[in-house]
Amino acid sequence: MGKPTGFMEFTRQTPAYRAPLERIKDWGEFHQDLSEQDIRSQGARCMDCGVPFCHTGELIAGMAAGCPINNLIPEWNDLVYHGHWREALDRLHKTNNFPEFTGRVCPAPCEGSCVLGINEPPVTIKNIECTIIDHAFEEGWVTPNIPQTRTGKKVAVVGSGPAGLACAAQLNKAGHLVTVFERSDRVGGLLMYGIPNMKLEKEAVVQRRVDLLAAEGVTFLTNTEVGKDYPPGKLLKEFDAVVLCCGATKPRDLPIPGRELGGVHFAMEFLHANTKSLLDSQHADGKYIDAKGKDVIVIGGGDTGTDCVGTSMRHGCKGLVQFEILPKPPGQRAENNPWPQWPKVYMLDYGQAEAAAVFGDDPRQYCIMTKSFEGDSSGHVKALHTVLIEWVKDDNGRFAPKEIPGTEKVYPAQLVLLAMGFLGPEDTLVNSLGLETDPRSNFKAEHGQYTTSIEGVFAAGDCRRGQSLIVWAINEGRGAARECDRYLMGVTELP
Ligand SMILES: Cc1cc2nc3c(=O)[nH]c(=O)nc-3n(C[C@H](O)[C@H](O)[C@H](O)COP(=O)(O)OP(=O)(O)OC[C@H]3O[C@@H](n4cnc5c(N)ncnc54)[C@H](O)[C@@H]3O)c2cc1C
Ligand code: SF4
Repeated sequence: MGKPTGFMEFTRQTPAYRAPLERIKDWGEFHQDLSEQDIRSQGARCMDCGVPFCHTGELIAGMAAGCPINNLIPEWNDLVYHGHWREALDRLHKTNNFPEFTGRVCPAPCEGSCVLGINEPPVTIKNIECTIIDHAFEEGWVTPNIPQTRTGKKVAVVGSGPAGLACAAQLNKAGHLVTVFERSDRVGGLLMYGIPNMKLEKEAVVQRRVDLLAAEGVTFLTNTEVGKDYPPGKLLKEFDAVVLCCGATKPRDLPIPGRELGGVHFAMEFLHANTKSLLDSQHADGKYIDAKGKDVIVIGGGDTGTDCVGTSMRHGCKGLVQFEILPKPPGQRAENNPWPQWPKVYMLDYGQAEAAAVFGDDPRQYCIMTKSFEGDSSGHVKALHTVLIEWVKDDNGRFAPKEIPGTEKVYPAQLVLLAMGFLGPEDTLVNSLGLETDPRSNFKAEHGQYTTSIEGVFAAGDCRRGQSLIVWAINEGRGAARECDRYLMGVTELP
């Protein structure tokens, strides 16, 4: 513990984002760092508690409490306070292959369970993590770590999101020859084509790590979809083991009247095309869905919806409303949501802050249900018909939405983005490999074991646990690598 009185002397400080009205004019990251001295003072707020809940990563009430990859948070807080940046980096890399991703976009369940957070604002763990790795890259400390020996075993990793990348990094470290198959033209999964550039820089941050992995010996095969361009049977024959990290990419639809109209898109169609066009041509090729001058409605109040809001704001939309079917969360933790649980409280995320800066208010409407889409004479959406709902217990004691008569409303919209979550992995590999699935249609495999119904085939990340977080994908990719290594060698030293 660097400074025993630090938590009493220093108040929580987080870096200000770039101002909303300025940042919506470009696609650059809005994230900014604190000065070195300020971040060291923030490290001094850590109390090095006897029981540091921040690094437990337990699931409480279905949500992560503490860091799912068990980052050694009090240790690196102390090292940062003392200015031992190199040692802090080594501690961080012990548990996290990609702190530059989590340090930017993790929702930080660690902070929700920080002991200081019981009666004071918690330690700013995520920003300290980000500063350690950004500082390390600036100093040139992060270099390719090429394994000294090779085992001669070949492993195929299918999918290059954070689960696939973490798995590949760990298996390569163990000396195996790893090939990552990716159907997109760029590596990174949702790090590349889901989360927008202003939240996570593609060239400077994502590609930088992919290049390091390639320099360490990982082979990437892009534009190659296993099950379409590459037969799964061949994969099983040519590789000693296979790890599936395909993500949960089947979007939840809204099958209501008018769904077939032009201008109604899944969020990922909008976000993927936008980033690809940005990276390919700075949008000069026009190959994206443009929100410019349109009334946009985003249906879904989660991370994906927020990214649709931020992207539409940068296009220059005319108006923007975001629908959330759940009630507005309270300003403070509710009684049934105590520390160290993930705090379910009202927050203004970056996209909503941008919409509020331009249009004057948080764009979210709560407890609202869309009944139908209305089209114009050319078959394009022009309006949404909605009704407000309340949540009441049904005969089985479960909460269900009930429409409130007289609250019907019509919203104009020329672009509608469906961001209502995902329903597990696509069926291609399930069918071609004959994989068993669980009741939620994810690939069936135990957390911690990762073995599927086919010998030598493992599954990790969103395709196993359902749409989740980057930090869980890293947890699972590392775990699957460990079990795959054990399968190949009989023993493993991977954590
Ligand atoms: C818009 C959006 C924003 C998000 N924002 C955040 C955030 O801010 N913070 C956070 O922690 N989490 C966020 N998430 C969740 C997070 O991105 C995911 O939980 C995480 O990326 C899952 O990692 P993964 O490796 O399991 O899968 P993915 O990242 O989905 O990667 C799977 C990859 O597999 C490839 N693939 C699939 N099938 C095949 C095949 N047959 N052959 C070859 N390749 C294949 C896909 O093309 C894809 O590249 C967000 C999700 C979305 C959709
Ligand atoms: S990875 Fe996420 S939960 Fe873990 S220390 Fe970093 S911000 Fe916290």
